[in-house]
Amino acid sequence: MQTLIKKSVQTLTPYQSARKIGGNGTIWLNANEYPISPNELLTNLSLENLNRYPEPQPQSIITAYANYAGVNNNQILITRGGDEGIELIIRAFCENDESVLYCPPTYGMYKVSSDTLNINTKTIPLTAEFQLNLAEIENNLDKVKVIFICSPNNPTGNLLNKDDIIQLLDMTKNKAVAVVDEAYIDFCLDNSIVDELNHFDNLIIIRTLSKAFALASIRCGFILANEWIIQSLQKIIAPYPIPTPCALIAESALSDIGIQAMQDKVAITLDNKLWLENELSNLEIVQNIYPSVANFILVTFKDGQAVFDKLWEQGIIARNQHTALNLANCIRISIGTDKENLALINTLKKF
Ligand SMILES: *Cc1c(COP(=O)(O)O)cnc(C)c1O
Repeated sequence: MQTLIKKSVQTLTPYQSARKIGGNGTIWLNANEYPISPNELLTNLSLENLNRYPEPQPQSIITAYANYAGVNNNQILITRGGDEGIELIIRAFCENDESVLYCPPTYGMYKVSSDTLNINTKTIPLTAEFQLNLAEIENNLDKVKVIFICSPNNPTGNLLNKDDIIQLLDMTKNKAVAVVDEAYIDFCLDNSIVDELNHFDNLIIIRTLSKAFALASIRCGFILANEWIIQSLQKIIAPYPIPTPCALIAESALSDIGIQAMQDKVAITLDNKLWLENELSNLEIVQNIYPSVANFILVTFKDGQAVFDKLWEQGIIARNQHTALNLANCIRISIGTDKENLALINTLKKF
């Protein structure tokens, strides 16, 4: 019976989600979540009409997010997290014999979603400075329909040069779409590429409430793109993707008060990151701390596996990056609460 499953699914390596591999952790620093739940968003929740299907694309959320992102309502699609956005884009653009291109080390879902849909992938590694290798990308555009780039990049934490992204958009005009994954852009919003939506038809941006908005649990993300792309994606998304309780929480998170609360969280996270970077830089076992504009840092240790294991034993779950391209001995650490960050440093000091 097992052979009834499609070949591409039989051979698929699924995404190693942070929750799945977390073990018996007490301190979770492996999924780039905000460390505290914004439970205040639950207090004013008035749930009704649970018998009715939800609004397919709740207009209150669209309007609020359009306002936050600086785009028009018709340039937004609400998705079940950024991850659904990734898959929808591949489904909408790639024929069976066409390819997705991405630039490792980067987010794992570009490959997993392509593999799931049985779409070929091409990889053009980032440069030593973790920037786009435009010349190599240009040489490998044959049959490429979708290019995923991630800025700020996960797991390296840096922004891609805006000029490079614009060159990429120029180079791929009328040939492919360039998808800029801005899951972490709320930590450095001035660096968004969003203004280029008006100049480039082939630009798509992915956003999410999972990171800076501290709402990974409600699975709410956005695709920002030109109207004709949004309309095409709307044809293939599930009919009622956003559950009513999630929509109400998202709406509240995108109110003026909600946005202010998010910005306060961002400020706290960036402060704590500075503290953590400073403490890490004083440790013998740390070889390199990559500069990060996001809510996590990538750290090279002398022996990454030993550090990862030691933290794990202490219930501190980080993200081992040792299998990612060019990231031997690297561990990605999400910024936790003061207390969690202190526990992390104290454990590392005992090495
Ligand atoms: C977390 C993340 C996402 C999407 O997360 P969702 O929870 O599905 O919104 C997308 N891209 C990157 C790079 C991420 O780190």
